[in-house]
Amino acid sequence: MPILSLPTPALILLIAPSGAGKSTFAARHFSPTEIISSDRCRAFISDDENNQQVTQAAFGLLHHWTRLRLAQPRLTVIDATNVQYSARQPLLRLARAAQVPAVALVLDVSLATCLSRNRQRPQRFVAEEIIRQQYHEFTSALLHLSREGYAQIRRLKEDTLDSIQILREQITREQITDEQAVREALETRKN
Ligand code: GDP
Ligand code: MG
Repeated sequence: MPILSLPTPALILLIAPSGAGKSTFAARHFSPTEIISSDRCRAFISDDENNQQVTQAAFGLLHHWTRLRLAQPRLTVIDATNVQYSARQPLLRLARAAQVPAVALVLDVSLATCLSRNRQRPQRFVAEEIIRQQYHEFTSALLHLSREGYAQIRRLKEDTLDSIQILREQITREQITDEQAVREALETRKN
């Protein structure tokens, strides 16, 4: 069974278009209080997960909630597409301010799969052209992630998503203040 080690505490950014399986993956591996979902934030504000008119307020809530958790600090998983740099950048800034490592967790799912899962989704249908646009932004994001300052970038292939097991690696206070130390600590444990 493939194993994915994640530093804890950390800020985990799920990165994938709509329909890739982010919410399903998050619910499988993390507790409800560890997951901050942009769709849930829309619902908290307007009772409608699909309400695009409250996007700004929903992300305001998402950032505020993230800041409060990282101040503890607690493991925090952002369930949002995060395909645009403008979405990732404020989250990276929050992680840096809290001195918590940021992890980019890419769900590397094909456009065809995103579209087909979107069609099968019971309550929520996202327009196909929006998913195509998100996929375009996603492929472009993959080229730039390495320059954005994550402690780790983990890319999960579509065929490993179902079987992956997550291992939490506790990071000490001294280590979380130093991204390089986090990288080295995780490297050492792998070897
Ligand atoms: P999100 O938009 O990225 O959050 O995607 P969701 O987690 O909502 O998943 C979209 C649809 O795909 C839902 O109907 C899920 O039940 C389905 N789905 C998610 N992950 C998988 C998977 O690994 N395998 C299959 N077959 N379906 C999945
Ligand atoms: Mg979702």
